[in-house]
Amino acid sequence: MTVLNTRISCADHTWNPVFGCTHVSPGCDHCYAEAIAKRFHGGFHVRLMPHRLGDVRRFKPVTELGQRRAPLVFVNSMSDLYHREVPDAYLDQVFQHIAARPDVVFQVLTKRPRRLLADGRRRWGDRGVPANLWLGVTVEDRRLARRVDLLRSLKQAAGPFTAFVCAEPLLSAFDGISLAAIDWLICGGETGPGARRLDPAWADQAVAAAAAASVPVWFRQWGRWPHHPHWADARGRTVADKKADLIARGLELSPTDQGGATLLGRLWRDRPPVPAV
Ligand code: SF4
Repeated sequence: MTVLNTRISCADHTWNPVFGCTHVSPGCDHCYAEAIAKRFHGGFHVRLMPHRLGDVRRFKPVTELGQRRAPLVFVNSMSDLYHREVPDAYLDQVFQHIAARPDVVFQVLTKRPRRLLADGRRRWGDRGVPANLWLGVTVEDRRLARRVDLLRSLKQAAGPFTAFVCAEPLLSAFDGISLAAIDWLICGGETGPGARRLDPAWADQAVAAAAAASVPVWFRQWGRWPHHPHWADARGRTVADKKADLIARGLELSPTDQGGATLLGRLWRDRPPVPAV
């Protein structure tokens, strides 16, 4: 898999200079990349994809609300860039290609923030993180809140950059997690076979934590229709009936998303400013 129009709703494209990964925390239990890789690509072992590096040339500006803006590119939807099997020299190449496209915003998300911090200190400690690079950590469980601290530590070491937290699939309460100095929160429930339920109270806590720190929120989806917070009240006998009822009563505003995406009566589609180009 390489550059493609992405199903990741908060990005325009994905770019996979690395393929394959290994589990690191509970959010990996139902890793969709692993399922795809095992079914279609002969396994999930880590592979470098240098022939894909040049794909960054393909990304074009996006027109939104009548204005051209930088495309948003999610890096490594099929891996984790900071996996230990990705050599430092290969990271150099990835970031050189990112630097070569300052008109594109690249989103790097990791569950391995220790290496992000160590590498980031060395790479950007003196000159700062490039403006077109957004760096984020996944925090699917409050026991992993330390990942946010490590991301903040990189800000202290390298200066300001767009830092984001991805609480998806959110698997626990979100209390006690500070989003101070964070610039974006992505949140959502798990999708796919065996998806675990996102408790609406946890999603409310995540939004409250974001509000307390004035952080924009992108809530992606509940994951499955039976996990929708109003599902128990939905009228009808079939999933289609119940879904139609929620939509008709205004309890779901984005019926195309998996399980809906309405939280606290609204859609959450806010993000940090994206440069016009
Ligand atoms: S870190 Fe991401 S890509 Fe790697 S196994 Fe976990 S969920 Fe899958």
